[in-house]
Amino acid sequence: MGVHVRIVLVLAAGLLWVPSLWGQRVSISLHDDLSVQAVRVIPQYAGYVLITGERQFPLEFGATLDARREGEAVSLALNGTPLGVFAHAALVNMDPEARFSLELTSPAGKTQVYDGNLSLYVDFGRLMTNNLVDQELYVAGVALAEIGGYAELEMYKAQILLIRTYLMANGSRHITEGYNLCDQTHCQAYQGSAFRYPKIGQAAKATQGQVLVDRNGRLINSVFHANCGGETASAGDVWLVHNDYLRARRDPYCRRSRGAVWRATIPLAKWKHFLQSKGVRTAQIGRGGYNFRSDRREALYTLSGGVAVPFRDLREYFKLKSAWFDVRVSGDKVLLEGRGYGHGIGLCQEGAMRMAVEGKTVEEIVAFYLSGVRVVPTEEAIVEEQ
Ligand SMILES: [Zn+2]
Ligand SMILES: [Zn+2]
Repeated sequence: MGVHVRIVLVLAAGLLWVPSLWGQRVSISLHDDLSVQAVRVIPQYAGYVLITGERQFPLEFGATLDARREGEAVSLALNGTPLGVFAHAALVNMDPEARFSLELTSPAGKTQVYDGNLSLYVDFGRLMTNNLVDQELYVAGVALAEIGGYAELEMYKAQILLIRTYLMANGSRHITEGYNLCDQTHCQAYQGSAFRYPKIGQAAKATQGQVLVDRNGRLINSVFHANCGGETASAGDVWLVHNDYLRARRDPYCRRSRGAVWRATIPLAKWKHFLQSKGVRTAQIGRGGYNFRSDRREALYTLSGGVAVPFRDLREYFKLKSAWFDVRVSGDKVLLEGRGYGHGIGLCQEGAMRMAVEGKTVEEIVAFYLSGVRVVPTEEAIVEEQ
């Protein structure tokens, strides 16, 4: 067996990523939220080899590979011709820039293009489709899923530093299930390759090997949200965990963006019902007692008589865009006027985009939203088990 073949087999067996090794591939479970039973895979690049146990099949550019779960094994057909049933199959290309398309055929779903290699096997009652991808191509893919293809370069750099920091801190999250991360927001949303957007790859390259650390050199909890509404939230207020770099601060950059304001109307009876479930005696509160206004982000919705309910509880129960809003009773309804979109902690994406448009650098963006946080090479970061 030649060296080349042996390396290919190691990759096919699903060599997993080790946090301390840089320049590695990561294994991402695709469509992790679905019970996938069948997929169609088409190489978008020459030089893929299909490896199933001891057998190998060359996969030409444009060839069609159908994979279907059959009990605990995978049944394969190449260009419509059955190849057999296998415990494990892998699509391998030694070129890290190789790509393939993956179409969900059962359940029927969308087609997405992925970088790197693919591992197919059955586990958890479904056909597993694990993408073995260079980690820099992975972070570029997550950046595309997060902020789309048309942001500024410095914004991509900031977003990618957060994504790479998350990967470093959480790369073992699904290790007992046989892969590094899932492709859902449980880990980081990932919908495949960013190859159509060279600026994203450029941002990944410019920040390659860099992560974000706090004052003590520890990897930060890399949190962000769509729009803070004009003031970021402190982690202490929302999560009740005080954090040095996740503090409240005024944000002038996001106020004219898409997610800056929202409105909602809720029946007064439902509003009262929820407050009662939190122990508020609504019989003692007059109509005006529900009104609340604040130009600052507040942790507590304080009613007349001094009783208070956390805004985050209201946000969660009524599925509101943010936990910062004014309350006004009108007739039998409660009118809410809200600011921001998301939990408001950490980097505000729409504000950061505005900063980048105004010519701010990635360092300035990070310093603005993440107090005292530094950009350092990975080797200098302290990784804590999470
Ligand atoms: Zn996950
Ligand atoms: Zn903001």
